[in-house]
Amino acid sequence: MPDIDVKEPEQVVIIGSGPAGWTAAIYAARAELNPLVFEGQGSKTMIPGGQLMFTTEVENYPGFRDGITGQELMMEMRAQAERFGTRILTEDIVEVDFQQRPFVLTSSRGKEVRADSVILATGANARWLGLPNEERLAQTGGGVSACAVCDGALPHFREKVLAVVGGGDSAMEDALYLTKFAEEVVVIHRRDELRASKIMQDRAFANEKIRFEWDTEVAEVLGDEEITGLVLEDTTSGEQRELAVSGMFVAIGHDPNTGFLEGQVKLKENGYIECPVNFRTNTSVPGVFAAGDVMDDYYRQAVSAAGTGCMAALDAERWLAHGGAESVAAEEPVAEVVEAG
Ligand code: FAD
Ligand code: NAP
Repeated sequence: MPDIDVKEPEQVVIIGSGPAGWTAAIYAARAELNPLVFEGQGSKTMIPGGQLMFTTEVENYPGFRDGITGQELMMEMRAQAERFGTRILTEDIVEVDFQQRPFVLTSSRGKEVRADSVILATGANARWLGLPNEERLAQTGGGVSACAVCDGALPHFREKVLAVVGGGDSAMEDALYLTKFAEEVVVIHRRDELRASKIMQDRAFANEKIRFEWDTEVAEVLGDEEITGLVLEDTTSGEQRELAVSGMFVAIGHDPNTGFLEGQVKLKENGYIECPVNFRTNTSVPGVFAAGDVMDDYYRQAVSAAGTGCMAALDAERWLAHGGAESVAAEEPVAEVVEAG
């Protein structure tokens, strides 16, 4: 159990334990800020270590020529953060009060921690269809994925028929990306028109390798060790048919883990944390910074999450060095304070 002084506020508390959280911790610990990480207590959809704990090989994280499993990568990051003295609690933060200074954070076990600065790195969860075999095959590397850029280039998807589920920009982007490797990409969409932007639609329609199954939902994922096909259901007639595929990429959106922040920090319309200053991790609350997928609805990659984790720790360090809460009390604009560092 890490040492927590309830009287003295923490210099920096990091909430979340994916690549963003651990990178922030490594930087904050090496800057002698003695960070405290709440890594989360785990649930069906989220586990300490973040989204990469649910995948097999990670082939695009720099530094690992032959790839590394998601779990190994996250254990290494955690150990690296610990090596520099990061303190870790396996609990969720369930409530924050950013109106008070120091900030007050409440954990799932009822602990109250006070903090001069906070880094929010709670990530996002890919939405899934909720079919039993979908979840199983996604977890075992059986050809079901929620990240085409991450998994599409793997050997077992090459020159095969692949399905992409969804009708938004992500689905179009995934379908286009997968045409580099696949023999054919079948986009399965529950309506007869796409939600995607016109330009993405045009690109997808123009690609000869992409075909569309309109008014169609996936009713069942087939396959034991690896996916072999899908049972498709016509949303208008209810009729079912089978489609043989060697991969299914689910692209039906993501949900950022921001429920516990309600009313405390400005969120974008889609629920992601707003970072108003370009190339800074400052949020709407001075002293609260955000990193990784929870503030990034666009790139959503491990390396970009790690990059913004580094930025958030540096932003927090500079903010604290320039007076932190006292500078807010003196009504100095935070962006200028940070830039001065
Ligand atoms: P996350 O990894 O989402 O981690 C956040 C973690 O914070 C949660 O898991 C939880 O433990 C913790 N947490 C959440 N809420 C709380 C709370 N209230 N209190 C305390 N803790 C909390 N990217 C790549 O670059 N390469 C890949 O090969 C790749 N493969 C992927 C495969 C799959 C199946 C998925 C789903 C994603 C993949 N990605 C990949 C994307 C990558 O995983 C994410 O971009 C990255 O993990 C985001 O990191 P993060 O630190 O922002 O948050
Ligand atoms: P999105 O726009 O919310 O689209 C999600 C798609 O999945 C919709 O077509 C939706 O169908 C479908 N869907 C949702 N739940 C489903 C379910 N249970 N079963 C079957 N289908 C389901 O999400 P997104 O595509 O991830 O995009 C998110 C944001 O990022 C958007 O603002 C997008 O423009 C942006 N983005 C932009 C780019 C780009 O510009 N290159 C790339 C990626 C993302 P319905 O249409 O019927 O609701």
